[in-house]
Amino acid sequence: MHKIPESAVDCRPPLLGMSFAQLEALCAQAGVKPAHAETLRAHIFRHADQDIRGIAGLPQAFYDYIESNTRRLEPELRARQDSEDGTCKMLLGMADGREVETVLIPGKGRLTQCISTQVGCAVACTFCLTATAGLTRNLSAAEMVGQIHAAFQHTGLKPRNLVLMGMGEPLHNYDEVARFIRLATDPKGMAFSPRRVTISTAGHVPGIERMIEDDLPCNLALSLNASNDETRSAIMPINRRWPIAEVLKWTSRFAAGKKKRILIEYVMLAGINDSDADAHRLVELLADLPCTVNLLPFNALAGNDFRRPDDARVSAFREILVRADRVAVVRESRGRDISAACGQLRTEVQASRRQKPTKIAEQSANPSPV
Ligand code: SF4
Repeated sequence: MHKIPESAVDCRPPLLGMSFAQLEALCAQAGVKPAHAETLRAHIFRHADQDIRGIAGLPQAFYDYIESNTRRLEPELRARQDSEDGTCKMLLGMADGREVETVLIPGKGRLTQCISTQVGCAVACTFCLTATAGLTRNLSAAEMVGQIHAAFQHTGLKPRNLVLMGMGEPLHNYDEVARFIRLATDPKGMAFSPRRVTISTAGHVPGIERMIEDDLPCNLALSLNASNDETRSAIMPINRRWPIAEVLKWTSRFAAGKKKRILIEYVMLAGINDSDADAHRLVELLADLPCTVNLLPFNALAGNDFRRPDDARVSAFREILVRADRVAVVRESRGRDISAACGQLRTEVQASRRQKPTKIAEQSANPSPV
């Protein structure tokens, strides 16, 4: 029988998931000044300090209280790959041994971190490697903060942008994702600008509704990937529940409320969704939505029959959008010389453990600087 690790039954609240009000409550319970909550917030969230005892100015007894009554949930680095283009992909082990990926992606004058929100995913998009293993569990907000801490610890780099686009459907884990967004955008904590934090959804309508109701301080990206319901339902089963018109209606409402452009992601699959007719239908679908379309030519994966369209097809598709005054950008997947697809590093490392140690496993023991 699978042994439940001690950490998995530890009921102490995780320090990395605590709001400022909870830090103040912690101070009150410990009988120390409320002002120490500010010190904790600055060090834990703004500076990503790993060592509580290294924080100056807290009463000695408070260190002991924190250690006895809260948990640290810093994930452990299990594997790392560094791309020639500067992309750094890490496989992180959580306290219960489950593994997720996080990726640091450099861009012009900015660094973006892609955060996982679930271990696995239940959405079952047919072109996605993460989907093949199904959903194991949700990640907590603390485990999402922990991904930022772990990346900082192992690279010395802090991202300027966050995208919740890693493993999982963020809106299937709404409560913890919303808690994470509020921690990430707390101006006195991690202080990410809400303009630089993006949730990407496969089209979970109740989640978009809640984002609107809660006025969640972040952007929205919609992974659309098809121009009609027949194709979208075939490659993204979530479309059978919430078809394109319904998803776009709620996406438009989000955009109107925020007065913001939506990011539309469109993974291009040769012979499936990349025809001129698809491009023309996409123009019509997006007629009333202020948006930018990211065209993502698919990267072929072992064990997956989908193919990448050739460059001429990608250009022709984009041209149709641009001629119709849609903003469309071709985005090549970063880190193509490493395991670029979401879930690929985890799959490879787990397969290698079943065989013999591989180059990937060796890299985890000898991380190189980004
Ligand atoms: S593409 Fe995203 S939503 Fe779809 S199965 Fe993969 S992780 Fe889940």
